Amino acid sequence: MSKPITGFELLEKEVEQAEEFKEKHRCSSKNKKRDVTGANRIFSYTFTLTGIGVGVTVSCSCGKEKNVTDYDSW
Ligand SMILES: [Zn+2]
Repeated sequence: MSKPITGFELLEKEVEQAEEFKEKHRCSSKNKKRDVTGANRIFSYTFTLTGIGVGVTVSCSCGKEKNVTDYDSW
């Protein structure tokens, strides 16, 4: 019954959680040499597919990460 996943979206709650994390992590990139865009704050999102939903983790350039998955939506 599962449809093919073609893209990932953050839910409203997940965006809020991610923004909160970003506020706490105003960390500069440790790897400035590769920072060609001029942006000194780098965050990445990891999407984890499970049988019942998609987990979302946001991570900072400092190495810290936070699971922002909105489990209520599962
Ligand atoms: Zn950080």
